[in-house]
Amino acid sequence: MSTVSASGSHPPRQEPGTLESTWRALRGRCPACGEGHLFGRFLKVAPHCTDCGQPFHHHRADDFPPYIVMFVVGHLLGYGIYVAETRFEEVPLWLHAMLWPSLAVGLCLALLQPVKGAVIGWQYGLGMHGFARASGSRVDERRTGGEVAAELRLGRPETAVAEPATPGRRDADHPRPLG
Ligand SMILES: [Zn+2]
Repeated sequence: MSTVSASGSHPPRQEPGTLESTWRALRGRCPACGEGHLFGRFLKVAPHCTDCGQPFHHHRADDFPPYIVMFVVGHLLGYGIYVAETRFEEVPLWLHAMLWPSLAVGLCLALLQPVKGAVIGWQYGLGMHGFARASGSRVDERRTGGEVAAELRLGRPETAVAEPATPGRRDADHPRPLG
């Protein structure tokens, strides 16, 4: 089902809550509409939703998903190895050597995509990074910390963030010191 009109504009949609957007993306769906696909390939995030057009390039999942996966899989396997060693002492060594590395690889491959999706959906739901600016209705209520700080400091919420700090250039807020 496509909600994109012939003119390319999108009808206003109900913004999902953070839990809803996280759950949608965990299942590999667009966090905004829940219909389009979030991933183009296994871990390659699509540039935008094929259904509603929501851009995905704002995400900053980076190393967080594999960190979560390593944490979860490490604890699961650590407990499993501990139980196997203490309760089933007759488990042969070759079985240990086959079982635990296979489980580690299998669990990591199975968890990486949903965990990465959940992280992206979570960032979308919180309006983090560029996701806050991607949807006009989210700008005012979901500003980033940097934008709020810039607004408090300069009183120019839209332009203060985009302006790079040009060496040698001084404005009214940072006057050239006298003498
Ligand atoms: Zn979508």
